[in-house]
Order: sequence, then structure tokens, then C-alpha cells
Amino acid sequence: MSVDAQVDLGPPIDELVAQLGDDVVVTEAERMEKYRWDRAQDPAAGVPLAVVRAGSTEDVQVAVRFAAQHGVPVVPRGAGSGLSGGASAVEGCLVVSTERMTAIAIDPVTRTAVVQPGLMNAQVKAAAAEHDLWYPPDPSSYEICSIGGNIATNAGGLCCVKYGVTTDYVLGLTVVLADGTAVRLGGARLKDVAGLSLTKLFVGSEGTLGIITEIVLRLVPRQRPPATLVATFGTLDDATGAVLAITQRLRPSMLEFMDGPTINAVEDLTKMGLDRSAAAMLVIQSDEPAGHAAAECELIAQLCQDHHAVEVFSTDDPEEGEAFVVARRNAIPAVERTGTLLLEDVGVPLPELGALVDGIADISAQREVTIAVIAHAGDGNTHPLIVFDPADEDMAERARTAYGEVMELAMSLGGTITGEHGVGRLKKPWLGDYLGPDAMALNQRIKDALDPHGILNPGAMF
Ligand SMILES: Cc1cc2nc3c(=O)[nH]c(=O)nc-3n(C[C@H](O)[C@H](O)[C@H](O)COP(=O)(O)OP(=O)(O)OC[C@H]3O[C@@H](n4cnc5c(N)ncnc54)[C@H](O)[C@@H]3O)c2cc1C
Repeated sequence: MSVDAQVDLGPPIDELVAQLGDDVVVTEAERMEKYRWDRAQDPAAGVPLAVVRAGSTEDVQVAVRFAAQHGVPVVPRGAGSGLSGGASAVEGCLVVSTERMTAIAIDPVTRTAVVQPGLMNAQVKAAAAEHDLWYPPDPSSYEICSIGGNIATNAGGLCCVKYGVTTDYVLGLTVVLADGTAVRLGGARLKDVAGLSLTKLFVGSEGTLGIITEIVLRLVPRQRPPATLVATFGTLDDATGAVLAITQRLRPSMLEFMDGPTINAVEDLTKMGLDRSAAAMLVIQSDEPAGHAAAECELIAQLCQDHHAVEVFSTDDPEEGEAFVVARRNAIPAVERTGTLLLEDVGVPLPELGALVDGIADISAQREVTIAVIAHAGDGNTHPLIVFDPADEDMAERARTAYGEVMELAMSLGGTITGEHGVGRLKKPWLGDYLGPDAMALNQRIKDALDPHGILNPGAMF
């Protein structure tokens, strides 16, 4: 090597450490390991240059300015519970983690909360409850996912069938853009149509347009204790037929579906006495005032019986009802115990739910892989869980084929490739087919306008 030769030492990370401190900027390989993956366990996850455990909007700005100056990719990260690989690290990136940003202030007068993004969804709910208020969106993962991650994925959940998804509760955001500028959008105002709807643009943008550092949330009065109804069915068609009959006439506060393989996996985990022979089970709740809830449950029971329910059980004891909700929330971890998962999130218009569930069963039989199906059935949003053994390359290949086929099936039924988990890295190959060339190009133009050098979460969605 000549004495004049330039040695590329990479981005001068010491400069960032000097600005933010080594308690904020983590560079030790061992400590960075857990920031490389989300729950999708993307095998292609890279090794970060550093993890920035930001404590404030200003910390995030410093990190993003450094990244912009040196052309370093930035991967925003909440709690890493994502299921689409959206938070998996890119080689040589800065992971900007919000885990230390956990402040919350509640204003009971305007019924709003100003929240930092690292707070868990469950902690937001708990803080609201202290004021007799409620933050409704309730992903099954509500105890292990951050509110920032919820905004970035526009998370759904179990009560969304009646109360809507995350975006319906976002009034304002502070976002750090790709050049390090922090913009404030919206605020504690229930109505505001001044300018383009930019707050909503960032909801569901999966860290590709900016990093969310503060959120103004709308809260509502506390939910009434719900009555719960559980129905089992001998066929998938009976169960999906009952879902359609219920949604045509009523607005339950929960309408969840589990198929036979899921029921068995949950029963293996919980030993709560679920009917292992059932082809499907619905968990339904009504949070109408007491008398109305009883009438609603009676009608729901009738509709289930009209669709040949094998067993119908109802209770107005919230604790007894909660046991079935917990069983449903445990479905993904329960099925995960049976093998490695490829997790889908396809959604269809409600009348197509039956065709989707039947079609998934056909793909499962054809590809000879177990596909356990859970669904936020009242939203037409299903989570087929494709189970495989990664050591069996033939089976892994069949699982990957089935993964694509399920998304193609949903699209053929007028549905979407993702209802709530986001595109991330896993579903990116199907996004163009789903959106079509014009909508895909429009998405790209917005991305290019806001992140011209493509440093924000490259490989996720775009
Ligand atoms: C058992 C289980 C059950 C689940 N059930 C549901 C469910 O019912 N409904 C549902 O919607 N999801 C569900 N999920 C998926 C997951 O919990 C959600 O997608 C959640 O919103 C992710 O939050 P997180 O904090 O873990 O985000 P992460 O996984 O850390 O990140 C998710 C995405 O958001 C981006 N991001 C995170 N924080 C920010 C920020 N501050 N600014 C900009 N971008 C950011 C990341 O770059 C990434 O693209 C489930 C997951 C598990 C493991």
C-alpha cells in the first residue's frame, strides 16, 4: 500500500458518541445484538454501526443529522414486536431506539394524552385509566409493543371492530425528518383541516418518512365491562357464515376467530378445556349497557345457532370473559411453540372471509404445511400462521410458496396483503402487485420528496 493511499475508516461514529454520550450511543457488538431483529426474525438482518438509545427529540435530531451527513441508513425502532421485519437492522445502520422515551401527560379536560413513543401501549392504557379514560386500540401484543411502533404501523387489535384503529386516535405528531428537522403536526384539537392531512401521512409509514418523537392521542371515556360469548363450530363455513350474519346486523366490541389447529395449540398452552374437536371458535364481546348487552348477546347466540354452532357459552362476568380473550391473545405464542412461523396479515371485504379461510385450507393441504388461522374476523383481517421446520429445506420452500399464495389469494378476493402489521421487508415483494403501478409510483414520489437520499429505513416498504 502506498503511503498516500486513503483508508476508508467508515463514518466517524466517535463524533456521534462525543455529542450524545456513550450511555446513549451503543457500539459494542454484544449489546447491539438484541436490536438487530424484530419478531419476524429476518435472517437477512444486518449488523448496525451503532444503536442510539435516544432520550429526546433533540437526541433523534442529532442522530439523523449525523446519518444524513455521512449517508448512513437509519432504522427507527420501538419495542421490536413487529411481525413484518420493519425494524430489522440494515448493515452499517444507526438503529434509533425510542425505548428510553417514555413520558406521558394526560389532560382530562381535552381528553388527550401527550406521549413519547417508547411507552408501551399497555402503559398508555393504564395512565388513561387513572383519569377514568380509555385508549382503545389494543393489539394482542399490547403489553410488549410501543405506542410509537403502533403509530408507525397503524396497529389494529381486538376492539378495533367497533372502535377503529390507531390512526383514529392520533391528533398530532412531532416527527424528525430525514434532514434532522423536527416538525409538529396537528395537536390537541378534535377538528383541524388546515393544510394537507400530513399527520395521517406519517401514521403507518413504518419509519420510512420520519421518526415519530411525540404523539398527541385522543382518549375516550372508560369502556363498560363487556359481556362475552364463545361459540364453537363443526365447519369453517359455519363459523365464517356466523361472522357475516353478526356483522350485518350488529356492532360487537370484539369478534375474533380461531381455527382448529389454533384452538389445539392454545389448549396445549393453557389447558383451559377448549373443545379440541371444533373446526373453529368465535370469541365475541358486547360492551353495550347491561340490558342492551344481554339482548345483543342473545341475538348473537341465535345467529350462531342458525349457523349450526356446536356449543354457545355466554357470561357477563368480565373476568370469566377475559380468560377467553387472553386465550385468543395467546394464539400466536401458542402456535409458535409448534414450529417456526411465517405470519400473514391478509384482509378481505367481509363477504369474502369464507372464501379466504377455505382457500387458505386448500393451500395448506396442497403445500402440505400446517396453516393455523386466527382472525380479527369482524374486520375481515386474518393471520394465517404458516408453521414449518427451518431445518427441513423442502418444507421451508413449501412454506415460502404458501406465503406468497395466501397473499395472491387475498388480492384475488379484493383484499389486502396487510391489514395491520405493515409491509416491512417481508411483504415488500408483493406491494407493487397490490398497489398497481400508479399508486406505487405515487408512494415512491412521496418517499423521494421526504427522504431524497433514501436513508430512512431502506428496504422496508420501498
Ligand atoms: C404476539 C403478537 C401479537 C400481535 N398482535 C398484533 C395485533 O393484534 N395487531 C397489530 O396491529 N399488531 C400486532 N402485533 C405486531 C406488533 O406488535 C405491532 O406491529 C406493533 O405496532 C409494533 O410496535 P413495536 O413498538 O414493537 O414496533 P417495532 O417492531 O419496533 O417497529 C415496527 C415498525 O415501526 C417503525 N417504528 C417504530 N417506532 C417508530 C418511531 N418512533 N418512528 C417511526 N417509525 C417507528 C419501525 O421502523 C418498524 O418499521 C403482534 C405482535 C406479536 C409478537
